[in-house]
Amino acid sequence: MFVFVIQLFAPTVMYAAEAPPTVKLGSYYDIFLDSTNEVTIEELLSGEYTNSFTPSTQEYLNFWHTDDTVWLRLDADEVIKDNEESYWLEFIDKLETIELYLVKQDGSYDKKIGGFSNLEERQIKFRSILFSIDDPSIDEIYLKIEGSMPLTVISSLSTTTGFIEKIISYKFFVGAFYGFLTALSIYNLFLFFSFREKTYLYYVFYMWSFMVFQATMNTFDIELTGHFLPEWFFTRSLVLSCNLLLLFMTLFGRNFLELKKYLPLHNQLLTIALWINAVLFIAVLLTPDVMAINNITTIFTMLVLVLLWISGLTLLLRGHKAARFYMVGWTILLSSIIIQGLGFLGVIPLHPRIYEDIPAIGAIFEAIFLSLALGDKINIIKKEHQEMQLQLNANLEHKVKERTQQLELAKQELEQLANTDRLTQIPNRLRLDQVLETELRRAQHDAVPLSIILLDIDHFKSVNDQFGHQIGDIVLTEVAKLLKDHIRAGDTVGRWGGEEFLIICPDTTIDDAIRLSSKIREQFEQYHFQEVERKTGSFGVTAYMAGDTLNTFVSRADHALYQAKDKGRNRVEYAIS
Ligand code: GH3
Ligand code: MG
Ligand code: MG
Repeated sequence: MFVFVIQLFAPTVMYAAEAPPTVKLGSYYDIFLDSTNEVTIEELLSGEYTNSFTPSTQEYLNFWHTDDTVWLRLDADEVIKDNEESYWLEFIDKLETIELYLVKQDGSYDKKIGGFSNLEERQIKFRSILFSIDDPSIDEIYLKIEGSMPLTVISSLSTTTGFIEKIISYKFFVGAFYGFLTALSIYNLFLFFSFREKTYLYYVFYMWSFMVFQATMNTFDIELTGHFLPEWFFTRSLVLSCNLLLLFMTLFGRNFLELKKYLPLHNQLLTIALWINAVLFIAVLLTPDVMAINNITTIFTMLVLVLLWISGLTLLLRGHKAARFYMVGWTILLSSIIIQGLGFLGVIPLHPRIYEDIPAIGAIFEAIFLSLALGDKINIIKKEHQEMQLQLNANLEHKVKERTQQLELAKQELEQLANTDRLTQIPNRLRLDQVLETELRRAQHDAVPLSIILLDIDHFKSVNDQFGHQIGDIVLTEVAKLLKDHIRAGDTVGRWGGEEFLIICPDTTIDDAIRLSSKIREQFEQYHFQEVERKTGSFGVTAYMAGDTLNTFVSRADHALYQAKDKGRNRVEYAIS
């Protein structure tokens, strides 16, 4: 890219150095600044002011904002070498009024007039001011320059062939310069449409306004619109285009660096700058003193540029990656503008490269780096987005896990609740049925013994009658506890209903079950119940028999229990058929 840009400028650079048909006139002039603004050509020709002229020391002249009338004198013999040729005298500056006097040896002269105050006098609709010198047998050339614009004089004298060659190479440079910026801006416009990121749009407007500014600077406004826009416009076009450029430059910089978020103070200052810019825009339309507004705008632009640069630098120092390319681009542009400023101020010699090409080169590099900066920023945003997504996913996964655990717990609690008897906190009938089914299946398939014990509290009704329902409940709870404490690991005791309990004893023969029942019966008999003191229970025992269903199995135990009651209670009976 760098090589490409260098090549862009190569033709003009080489041409300016080598072309003999073009002479740069700056150092050939004698200069006279007329502070009265009243001296006439006749007075000059009379020799009255001969001693007021001093020879120029610079190749390019810059008078900035001067109220004086600038008179320039050329000795024709020094620059016009071929009297058979026709010549073109060119001024590439934006000058309001320029008068040309071609003085012959006999003292008579031809007068020509140019500048944007006299556009109807133009011979060719070209960006620069051109005078043709058809009769080269002249003695002296006088130039009178006036106007409210900054007065710079970058002038040259070319033969017709030299002039045509110059135009061709210049048009090539112009095509490449504006072509490149247009392509870059259209590319970024596409990016705006695909990303919907406002910064891209500001960038595109910034580039366009820069092209307008550069074109105005290079007096293309006069070349393109001189035939229909009034002189009034051309004294103001540079300030207006500068306002426009500053507007989009500020909008872009602010948005790109996200100053609202990261540097609110800078953001506020730039908002104020935008308002000042608007005021200057209106002021330049209304004021007759364009020169003053021109100067204010120049200083103001510098301040805003420096502020934007400092904002970038601050963010860069704070570790904002997005500011990297921005700073490279902005630094290049700022340096090129400072070089231009120093040229105008006379600190360094003013040269067309400085006047026109350095800011253009700066702008191209800046445009490239800002475009890179935008790409870079999109990448950074994408990465942040991905990281956020990952973080979010991790959080989500964690939440889901947590919720699943909570749900699992709730489910277990619910199951527990559904399977437990509210009063005694031991398995209820539902749970007993489940365990019975499982154990019955095991007994069937694995041919292992299985026994059950059905227990009914004797004369329980009398407890309720005598002590009340609440004491009855306490007795039931105590019985449940007693049973739980005396069954073996692997047995299940539950509340079968009312004051009846069932003990399921897997891998237990009927003999063992009878022994267990007897042991529990004794414990029961000896147990000291609250208030009620003594209570007994009757036990019906049975064991699994081939072909048993849940119903036949439990009925047999029930039958045994009935027998126990029948035989006087507080005893164990069993049934095996
Ligand atoms: P038997 O020796 O013949 O078993 O006499 P019983 O009084 O124990 O027999 P019955 O079946 O006539 O009475 C059972 C009583 O148990 C009836 C009912 O009021 C009582 N009962 C059932 N469930 C509960 C309960 O949850 N709490 C209380 N306090 N009493 C209950
Ligand atoms: Mg009963
Ligand atoms: Mg009972």
